[in-house]
Amino acid sequence: MEILVATHNLHKKEEIQQILGSDYVVTSLSDYNLNEEIVEDGNTFQENALIKAKYCFEKTGKPSVGDDSGLVVEALNGRPGIYSARYAGNHNFKKNIEKVLAEMKDEPNRRAYFITMLCFKDQDGEHYFEGRVYGNITQEVFGEEGFGYDPIFIPDDYNMTFAEMLPEEKNKISHRSEALKKFLDYLSIRGGVL
Ligand code: IMP
Repeated sequence: MEILVATHNLHKKEEIQQILGSDYVVTSLSDYNLNEEIVEDGNTFQENALIKAKYCFEKTGKPSVGDDSGLVVEALNGRPGIYSARYAGNHNFKKNIEKVLAEMKDEPNRRAYFITMLCFKDQDGEHYFEGRVYGNITQEVFGEEGFGYDPIFIPDDYNMTFAEMLPEEKNKISHRSEALKKFLDYLSIRGGVL
């Protein structure tokens, strides 16, 4: 049973494959030579996830998944939010982190969460699956693992950032794995991809 994921990122494809298991074959945009940029101009995580899933489904007719993730900081009125990837102008993790830390300087409220919104689209319509992990923004960067905002995010019940955890450890509690597990439950209940 094939599921097409709207990404060129091999790491993302493999993470999804790992969680869905061997009953499913996860393919990606690269497998279909779909190389044009998908314009993510939605106003919400949900809209962006749908844009990606819809693009894949319309191009191939395969059951497709689109996802959109980001960091939502309470004291910044939800920013960086859907702008997480390019918060400081381009895809530069270091600059994005610097911008968030600068905006959070002297801010006592450090609450934030990571969110993943996943949209599954097939001939029957769309279904959404959401994962969140809550925590706090640090005052400075800690750790070398992971990507994005991992070095400035300490999940609740931990005393280290995502970037100080082993990838397996992060994956167990991450927003992405929570959304994927909900998706897997949905697939199991409906008996796989039809
Ligand atoms: P995407 O939708 O998965 O491409 O994520 C968009 C952006 O959100 C990434 O470029 C990161 O800046 C941020 N982000 C999403 N997930 C994570 C995470 O697990 N750790 C750190 N940053 C993340």
